[in-house]
Amino acid sequence: MTFQTVLGEARAEGRTLLNEVEAKSLLREAGIAATAATLATTREEAQSQAAAMGFPVVLKVVSPDIAHKSDVGGVKLNLADREAVGQAFDEIMANSKKAEPNARIKGVAVQQMAKQGTEVIVGMTTDPQFGPVMMFGLGGIMVEVLKDVSFRLVPVTDRDAGQMIDEIKGRPILQGVRGQPAADLAALKSTIVKVSEFVEAHPEVRELDLNPVFAYPDGALAVDARIVVSEG
Ligand code: ADP
Ligand code: MG
Repeated sequence: MTFQTVLGEARAEGRTLLNEVEAKSLLREAGIAATAATLATTREEAQSQAAAMGFPVVLKVVSPDIAHKSDVGGVKLNLADREAVGQAFDEIMANSKKAEPNARIKGVAVQQMAKQGTEVIVGMTTDPQFGPVMMFGLGGIMVEVLKDVSFRLVPVTDRDAGQMIDEIKGRPILQGVRGQPAADLAALKSTIVKVSEFVEAHPEVRELDLNPVFAYPDGALAVDARIVVSEG
């Protein structure tokens, strides 16, 4: 999947939101660590993809009309076997249709369940005046309630990325607190820089969110990805 192919498909379908399967495939090709996701359009497809991938897996609704998948009951974590996958598929379809009756639902994204890490967010928004701006912050309530985030204009260098990490108030959490291990800051910096390079290479990208990225003592992994492109 090349960027131009994915962009062409999205535009042909009149959507500006790339789905998680497309977004992660493009990001992985750009060297950004993300859980590999495949699109399943039927219950049986989801089950065979999950079995091929290895349990436990995660299923998530794929729809250009649903931006926040958990809000509609569209995310099922830690599915241990075929039966759990089948049931999750049915529930996701029912939940999503109930919450968003007019949503176009393409199927579900199947991916491996990642081990828990410290949740951080790496994102890009387009400022009408300054153009693409990178954002970094800690995930969950830290960003939603406390707005504890830092910004830099694209292109972001390795040094800028280090400053972005140092500037957030929650910085000590990444150093390891209360028995939690320290996060791999080099891996986080590299993720920020690679996303900056990706959006610089593709000016059609208007917004990009890796929310969350799991920060590990060794490495970092995006488990959710959202890309919004400009209209054709
Ligand atoms: P939403 O559209 O609601 O943001 P996410 O894809 O972020 O949906 O999933 C919701 C939450 O589920 C994430 O914040 C993360 O904690 C967890 N999660 C998502 N994907 C995975 C995965 N592959 N492995 C482990 N946990 C995951
Ligand atoms: Mg998310």
